[in-house]
Amino acid sequence: MTCLLVGAAGIGAGASRGGDSDPAATATTESIPLTETRRAALTPVRVTALRVSDDDGRRQTLISPEEVSRWLQFADSVYKSAGIRFVFDPEKDFHDLKSTRINNIMPAGLDKRADLTDVSLDMRRIAAGYPKTLVVYFRWGSASTPTGNSFSSGDLNYVVGCGFASTGVCGHQNISLLAHEMGHYFGLLHTFAGSYQTVADAAAALAAANNDTSIFAGDPFDDTPPDPMISEIACLDTRAVRLGEHDVPICRDNIMSYYDSPTKTLSPRQVRTVKWMLERRARFDMTAPQNRPGHADPPREDSRDAARVDPSAPPPAAPGASDSVIAEFETLPIAEATKVNASPQDMLGFSWYGFSRHTQIYCRGEKNATLSFKLDVPRDGSYEVIVYATLAPDYGQVQATIAGRRTGQPFDLWSDTIVLPSGPISLGRQKLTRGTHEVSFTVVAKNPLALAYNFGLDAIELRPAIAGK
Ligand SMILES: [Zn+2]
Repeated sequence: MTCLLVGAAGIGAGASRGGDSDPAATATTESIPLTETRRAALTPVRVTALRVSDDDGRRQTLISPEEVSRWLQFADSVYKSAGIRFVFDPEKDFHDLKSTRINNIMPAGLDKRADLTDVSLDMRRIAAGYPKTLVVYFRWGSASTPTGNSFSSGDLNYVVGCGFASTGVCGHQNISLLAHEMGHYFGLLHTFAGSYQTVADAAAALAAANNDTSIFAGDPFDDTPPDPMISEIACLDTRAVRLGEHDVPICRDNIMSYYDSPTKTLSPRQVRTVKWMLERRARFDMTAPQNRPGHADPPREDSRDAARVDPSAPPPAAPGASDSVIAEFETLPIAEATKVNASPQDMLGFSWYGFSRHTQIYCRGEKNATLSFKLDVPRDGSYEVIVYATLAPDYGQVQATIAGRRTGQPFDLWSDTIVLPSGPISLGRQKLTRGTHEVSFTVVAKNPLALAYNFGLDAIELRPAIAGK
């Protein structure tokens, strides 16, 4: 019963990184079937299952279409409260994929994450070859024996799963594991912050924190109480634990806890996040946007065979992008900062590959805060202005100004729960002369649900406008 948690440092409400060999699940696949009418009212999310093996076909993951269906039947019981039903055709939606690199993928700590950028990008491209579907890679793992670990997160366009019988919990198959990883895919965080072997360990941690139970909180939601994950009570059926003189509730039935329970649910606040993430993903055909200046994004090409493409070959450039002026905000000189503290921020804790050079400028500001940069434009021309930014729960709505002219409409950088790359935000065309121009960003408003007027900027691209387009 291992429990692997990969933490994420953060701004705002923090980011999620699911790295799970979840020791909590449920013993039953039975759920009350929805009537056809009620089922038809739910939003269908089609699932693509990729059964991965090594390049030579060995170490093929132990998963069948029927087992995928069983996992999805349980997921249906969880996500119907979010208005979602999963659609999976064992004939059409189950595929084999040979790739030793992908078959080996495991969650990585911050120090190793950059090393996995290439294989993660390949996985992203292959998943984009199955647009409008939720792609699950069922892979073997990095060892000779199959892993029971799975992971996903809101910045990925796929879930990494494992063999059906390779993962167990409390002496039975882990039927809620896939639904849990889908929770991460839909932007959810764990209900717990850390895990403890014994009740005594958790009680000691609580006493050391002056009985502040918020040390147990893994998410910022007020309807999932701070949830100490304690291994020695994972397999019981209790709903609270006595820690010193305090009865502390545990989220046994919640899909984002590790506690074992035959049924799993979403809280109303989690439902809001799942709905927000589904809507955002649907806007991009379920391909998660990334900040990659100079490249077409989301990838539209049929990229299912990308695993066999030379991984060192660069992905196709967007039309006209070979002459783009590209600058990383963290390297541009700052011309002026008003009501804002700006500093570079490493983003690997939020995404394995989503941010350009893994770094942004984090701007802690208030309303009407402005940050201006100096940008060199090498030649006169008409350019499409593309900004790559960051979405976060504490981010506001930003207006760009270039060379003294308002450029495009304000863009909203609010995200419901987690931190995400915005992908390319086109601000339209602008004529610019050769020379140094001031590029300014002002936070002019915020979504009512946003926690603050902060913002984050990753990169800017001036793409020469193509005549006639
Ligand atoms: Zn998890």
